[in-house]
Amino acid sequence: MNGIVVVFDFDKTIIELDSDNWVVDELGATDLFNQLLPTMPWNSLMDKMMEELHAQGKTIEDIKEVLRRAPIHPRVIPAIKKAHALGCDLRILSDANLFFIETILDHLGIKDCFSEINTNPGYVDEEGKLRISPYIDFHSSPHGCSLCPPNMCKGMIIERIQASLAKEGKKRMIYLGDGSGDFCPSLKLKEGDFMMPRKNFPVWDLICENRDLLRAEIHEWIDGEELELVLIKLIEKINIQESTSFELLSVDCKFELTFPMAAHEALPPPLRVHQ
Ligand SMILES: [Mg+2]
Ligand SMILES: [Zn+2]
Repeated sequence: MNGIVVVFDFDKTIIELDSDNWVVDELGATDLFNQLLPTMPWNSLMDKMMEELHAQGKTIEDIKEVLRRAPIHPRVIPAIKKAHALGCDLRILSDANLFFIETILDHLGIKDCFSEINTNPGYVDEEGKLRISPYIDFHSSPHGCSLCPPNMCKGMIIERIQASLAKEGKKRMIYLGDGSGDFCPSLKLKEGDFMMPRKNFPVWDLICENRDLLRAEIHEWIDGEELELVLIKLIEKINIQESTSFELLSVDCKFELTFPMAAHEALPPPLRVHQ
């Protein structure tokens, strides 16, 4: 272990698309999903959709088959394996659900690279129906964060991880994400941490607009190839910093991939976007 914790969002960060949308679309339930979305929170709707698909005769195996076909950039798996081999503690923080994530990670052969998966519970009930529940019970104990969806505040989870890391002696965090739900945790990162937002995705837009609120160093990436390049460089940079004297720390070791204050695109309509 090298004292570095790497926290990955899952949808559109590890895999190329949103796993909820992928399953709903591939199993032919897109219209119903779009129809119901304005009436309930995303996470509650996914549970409802699983009930609907079960009623239509779709099995757990049908859902797994769709998940195993979820597209992933070819450099993402090597990046994860390399970060793990370099001694980083890898974790997932996602607003998808445990069943989808574990099915995909198992299929890709990288589940053992992760020490923790923080996400919405997902389990198969006695009728063979997939049940998806919120990460927190937002009726009895709302998280109170206005930036996040009712079922999960990723920033709150990052704070909890930070508190446990202090006890374990781990020092630095690298966070990778794409969605608007990844903005709240990016605000919790500390000086010495690194935020890796996916360029031209909602979290990147939000960071561009609120650059002064972040304490972490920002390194953008655009696809799996850049994700690998930037992540491994950061890990190596931290490893060098940690293993050399203070004299060497003063040497200018800036990255080529610094964060440009470029023009940004408009955010998509919030209701349609899974955070
Ligand atoms: Mg995402
Ligand atoms: Zn939050």
